[in-house]
Amino acid sequence: MTSVDAIIEKLGATRTCDAGLTKAPWAFDKTKPSYGPGASALDLIPHNAPRQQPLPAEYTQASDDELQERIINAKRALGNKVLILGHFYQRDEIIVHADYTGDSFQLSKNAATRPEADNIVFCGVHFMAETADILSTPRQNVILPNMSAGCSMADMANIDQVTDAWEQLEDICGKGTDADGKQQIVPVTYMNSSAALKAFCGRHGGIVCTSSNARPVLEWAFARGKRVLFFPDQHLGRNTALAMGMSLDQMPLWDPYKPAGSAAPEDYRDAKMILWKGFCSVHQRFTVDQIDRARKAFPGCKVIVHPECSMDVVNAADGTGSTAYIVKEIENAPAGSAIAVGTEINLVNRLAAQHPDKTVFCLDPVVCPCSTMYRIHPAYLAWALENLVNGKVVNKITVDPQTASEAKIALERMLEVHP
Ligand code: SF4
Repeated sequence: MTSVDAIIEKLGATRTCDAGLTKAPWAFDKTKPSYGPGASALDLIPHNAPRQQPLPAEYTQASDDELQERIINAKRALGNKVLILGHFYQRDEIIVHADYTGDSFQLSKNAATRPEADNIVFCGVHFMAETADILSTPRQNVILPNMSAGCSMADMANIDQVTDAWEQLEDICGKGTDADGKQQIVPVTYMNSSAALKAFCGRHGGIVCTSSNARPVLEWAFARGKRVLFFPDQHLGRNTALAMGMSLDQMPLWDPYKPAGSAAPEDYRDAKMILWKGFCSVHQRFTVDQIDRARKAFPGCKVIVHPECSMDVVNAADGTGSTAYIVKEIENAPAGSAIAVGTEINLVNRLAAQHPDKTVFCLDPVVCPCSTMYRIHPAYLAWALENLVNGKVVNKITVDPQTASEAKIALERMLEVHP
């Protein structure tokens, strides 16, 4: 296995990750709400973003070893009454305690197989815990160890903005169905969105997609409608629509911060895909230049990237797909091969460690981790679990019944298309 330092040197990169990420996450619990270091300047935190209460000093001052021990003991005491889910992008000190590791949707499905667990501790971000609450039984508690672990992409589309866009687009494109019974617009939301947006899709004949099933979901949508309003990630929408044969001029952007979405009304009327102007700060950092450097430094390497990367990066790569696809590609690669990956660095580093017979490296080896996933530090997990041991549920994520039932309709449509 080639060392990370050797790869960094070979790629000509420097160690430039935000110095703020060397601080403990609780340093940000006392500042005004923010995504913290590593987020882009364009990431606007909502004014009502959930806040984490400051942790007691016994957690913030505990050593790493003490925290690990406390987590192990609390988990043992809770037995099968607790289920810990760890998203692929979590740090290793969290993943080591997870009963399941996966992407957001895999984890919610895993949770549904364990109805005996009273408490589901979701080590991920806010929208993931909401989805787990929707798909779990009413008596189960879903707990997010740090309330300020949001997702800057999910926050780029809120229900007021989407409702406003929808009404304006209905004025331009028409309401309801046309003479052939096709919906004028089908709303499609990426899994990385709030429960309120999933419920919006449920109410308006729409559907949810993941990065694994975006294409069959869009095929479902186009069988029922003339155009799609896709939110919040423009890149997943654009990359998938291009792969389906649509052209860029059929995909105007809707910018929620510009009057009338910023494009001309006829652009929306003639559109196939109306793309919401949202993005993932982590995946948007990858560039074609990094791919060129990787190919030069490791001739013959395979470049695989996540579809949340920009179109140029996806076009320059050898393959694109969800986190599950990336994991499989690396597992299936022959020993001795080199694979450059465009996704979150915690996952890439873990895959590199699991496959020492291959050279697996991040396209940008000094890219910052997802700054919101980073909020789930072992101190928060220890705090949440020990409270459960003492009979107290902290940081419970609850989706109201009306929203949950409408969101479930959109999720179930997705499951019918692609279980
Ligand atoms: S990696 Fe991007 S999309 Fe995923 S949780 Fe972080 S900000 Fe959100």
